[in-house]
Amino acid sequence: MTDRNIRKILIAGGGTAGWMTAAALAKIFRERGCRIQLVESEEIGTVGVGEATIPQVQLYNRLLGLDEDDFLRRTRGTFKLGIQFVDWYRKGSSYTHAFGEVGRDMEAIPFYHYWLKEHLAGRAGAIGDYTLAALAAQQGKFMRSIDAGNSPLSNIVYAFHFDAALYARYLREFAEQRGVVRTEGRIRRTNLNPHNGFIESVALESGESIGADLFIDCTGFRGLLVGEALGVGYEDWRHWLPCDRAWAVPCESAGDPVPYTRSTARPAGWQWRIPLQHRTGNGHVYSSRFMDDGEARDMLLQNLDGAPLAEPKLLKFTTGKRRKFWHRNCVAIGLASGFMEPLESTSIHLVQSAIARLLTLFPNRHFDVEDIDEYNRQTHFEMDRIRDFLILHYCATERDDSEFWRYCRTMELPETLLQKIGQFRKNGRIVRVDGELFNELSWMEVMVGQGIIPQSYHPLVDVMPDEMLAARMAEIKSVIDRSVEAMPAHSEFIAKHCARPTEEG
Ligand SMILES: Cc1cc2nc3c(=O)[nH]c(=O)nc-3n(C[C@H](O)[C@H](O)[C@H](O)COP(=O)(O)OP(=O)(O)OC[C@H]3O[C@@H](n4cnc5c(N)ncnc54)[C@H](O)[C@@H]3O)c2cc1C
Repeated sequence: MTDRNIRKILIAGGGTAGWMTAAALAKIFRERGCRIQLVESEEIGTVGVGEATIPQVQLYNRLLGLDEDDFLRRTRGTFKLGIQFVDWYRKGSSYTHAFGEVGRDMEAIPFYHYWLKEHLAGRAGAIGDYTLAALAAQQGKFMRSIDAGNSPLSNIVYAFHFDAALYARYLREFAEQRGVVRTEGRIRRTNLNPHNGFIESVALESGESIGADLFIDCTGFRGLLVGEALGVGYEDWRHWLPCDRAWAVPCESAGDPVPYTRSTARPAGWQWRIPLQHRTGNGHVYSSRFMDDGEARDMLLQNLDGAPLAEPKLLKFTTGKRRKFWHRNCVAIGLASGFMEPLESTSIHLVQSAIARLLTLFPNRHFDVEDIDEYNRQTHFEMDRIRDFLILHYCATERDDSEFWRYCRTMELPETLLQKIGQFRKNGRIVRVDGELFNELSWMEVMVGQGIIPQSYHPLVDVMPDEMLAARMAEIKSVIDRSVEAMPAHSEFIAKHCARPTEEG
């Protein structure tokens, strides 16, 4: 280490973002060269939700070197093959945004273009019928990939559901074992250098003052350092993502946990159901412009699978993002950097990608402005593209049975989303821009699920003779059906690999 290197990092906040950051930094620094301290306040607490993930979380687990079964045992986790969307396109409709492959690509053309040809001709069912993860989810089946050559069983893509409180505890233990120092206390003031405006230290209510070179703001919605102390503003996206509140409540499980999240549209928002080993997580996300808190709470409690296990908790938020995520010597990670609502379980991923980006552009004490600008550029891009994907679920709907849905289907859309929908409508093409998070298949599944069916398909599909196409489609379907049949039940898989004995609590 040269004397320009960062010698001390202070992480403000110990929610999922704070402890994920602490664990990753602790793993990288291995108690060498840089001290890491985390301050959190039990009195303030955490949001305590955030229990569904997307497959990229495995990269984070790999960075830490976690044993997946142990991680699931400790967090009472389950597997997730996708999200089932109920009543979104219209009441009574349902589709799955499933992870992984859809069908089998042929002649270097995505399978879904062949499906489109057959579907437009009335010869193919739903796209989900050709998707291993969607069928396995519906049938409550799960297994990890095996080495089975060309079989779809060689490529099973999954994420996790876990208990947010147990996850934070798990990461805290990991980080503390690797030298992160935790301080309990409430930050009362942030002290800035009068010359350059950099953060020098935070002062706790106890009177203690903690200095550092680099400050990570993980203080949640408030953004205590980045917003309140450094004055970085917030871009409000409620005109595109109008949900701004959620009631959350755990309930008793009504049976074996299913390997998917369920999202059910409601008159002014939607409700999630996240199955864990020991309970089910539920929440009703809604727009306070279109529904009051009492009605939203009742609606949630009337739609649970089992008896509630706690009082419902109300969370208020503003969808949007920070105008800068890294400013001077402060990087905002987690809810302090923005929040786009939990519809596609992207927040924990955003924490993870922020950590990865910070490591790529890790500063020394000069804090080169070029690196900071690049960090901000990449983060804006990532968030804007996810925003578009989320808006798609709301705007592409036939529902007009409430003020909320009438607003969503007629709201003005970002140009980038309009382009994507327009192109898909014409000929089914989806162009994944740079490193945007959701791939072509995710966009296609949600567009089709939300009722956007292209007028045409990739012209090269017609190179394959019709009889050959019909035969190959049938063969692909049959291979997928047989593969799903061969998979064990999700609950059986958990019991065998990662169930936590009940006496452990
Ligand atoms: C309704 C809802 C559902 C969600 N569902 C999902 C999901 O399914 N999947 C997903 O990926 N994400 C989800 N999220 C987002 C996810 O919960 C968050 O991204 C994640 O928990 C990170 O939160 P955080 O650590 O940034 O903030 P918080 O959990 O709010 O933590 C903030 C921390 O800062 C500390 N703090 C604050 N002020 C002070 C102070 N003055 N002094 C000292 N400490 C302080 C607090 O004590 C706490 O430790 C959801 C969010 C909401 C609101």
